[in-house]
Amino acid sequence: MSRYADRVVVVTGAARGIGAATAQRFAEEGASVAVLDLDQSAAQASADALTLADGAKAVGIACDVSDSASVQAAVARVVEDLGKIDVLVNNAGVIRDNLLFKMSDDDWDTVINVHLRGAFLMSREVQKHMVPAEYGKILNLSSTSALGNRGQANYSAAKMGLQGLTRTLALELGRYGINVNAVAPGFIVTDMTDATARRVGVEPEEFRKGAAQRSPLLKVGYPQDIASAAAFLCSDEAGFITGQTLYVDGGAKI
Ligand code: NAP
Repeated sequence: MSRYADRVVVVTGAARGIGAATAQRFAEEGASVAVLDLDQSAAQASADALTLADGAKAVGIACDVSDSASVQAAVARVVEDLGKIDVLVNNAGVIRDNLLFKMSDDDWDTVINVHLRGAFLMSREVQKHMVPAEYGKILNLSSTSALGNRGQANYSAAKMGLQGLTRTLALELGRYGINVNAVAPGFIVTDMTDATARRVGVEPEEFRKGAAQRSPLLKVGYPQDIASAAAFLCSDEAGFITGQTLYVDGGAKI
């Protein structure tokens, strides 16, 4: 498949987990890929690990998506190195889970800043290049936790906020040929869910089994499940889809 031949894709938080798998999927489908992450060497290692099509390139760029100056510098680097930006995947994320009465100001601000401010800053910077080109795809990573999840007031608010951001950017940017959608994963096996398991005192393997038992499909998801949804939603096959949130959760929210 080469749905992304000659396309340039930016994935934030792509040093590992869902972001790394998504970067890999776009690369396999022909794209040049910019891997953005907090740490330069981790971003570069992830970019170096991509399997690229002939003529495609990959770059690893340090970027803190919650910092305006860092975002401006990273987006400028992508355009300098890869020439343009066709697709942006706002994937970078953190968790700071706590029940409300124990949640600190910092727990709240960190999560809102990385997910929500990060997607805002990245989208605002990238649209400067997409609008004149009259082409673009923006995909935001929401979550089933947007619908409410104990211990995740910060994360749930950020993830539902991203759904509102998605709908609003779709309204504003549609006339410039830009589609904006969100994908809302359920339980996906990554360092993030393993960290949650350890926080609640359960072995990651047991935690996964419990999540699988609660799912209609009796299984948990893997980063590739989100990558394939991302590759569809950002493709021209999905050209009449915008402002939507696709739950990729094994049916968990049914
Ligand atoms: P992950 O394995 O923890 O990876 C997240 C990546 O984001 C890490 O490489 C991390 O870098 C990076 N990052 C954190 N803060 C950043 C910042 N300020 N700027 C740039 N990069 C930053 O997480 P994941 O499970 O793959 O999750 C990816 C996305 O999917 C997140 O938005 C998450 O909320 C969402 N999601 C995940 C699940 C799930 O079950 N895993 C479910 C629903 C939604 P460091 O390693 O340096 O911290």
